[in-house]
Amino acid sequence: MTTTTKTADPAALEEGQRCPIAGCDGTVVLVREGDCACHIAPPCPACTDAHLSCDVCGKERRP
Ligand SMILES: [Zn+2]
Ligand SMILES: [Zn+2]
Repeated sequence: MTTTTKTADPAALEEGQRCPIAGCDGTVVLVREGDCACHIAPPCPACTDAHLSCDVCGKERRP
């Protein structure tokens, strides 16, 4: 994933960002299904299947 441009798309969350859900103090985290293996064969399935999710309300956002 590249971050060459910044957009105003509210769905374009970034890891570490505060949860956009009103009233939620959670943090958006990148959830991977397993260990990253990009050093072997990028992009690895763990990264391609990764999704952003709030660690409090669990709201998931796919890029
Ligand atoms: Zn990876
Ligand atoms: Zn939340």
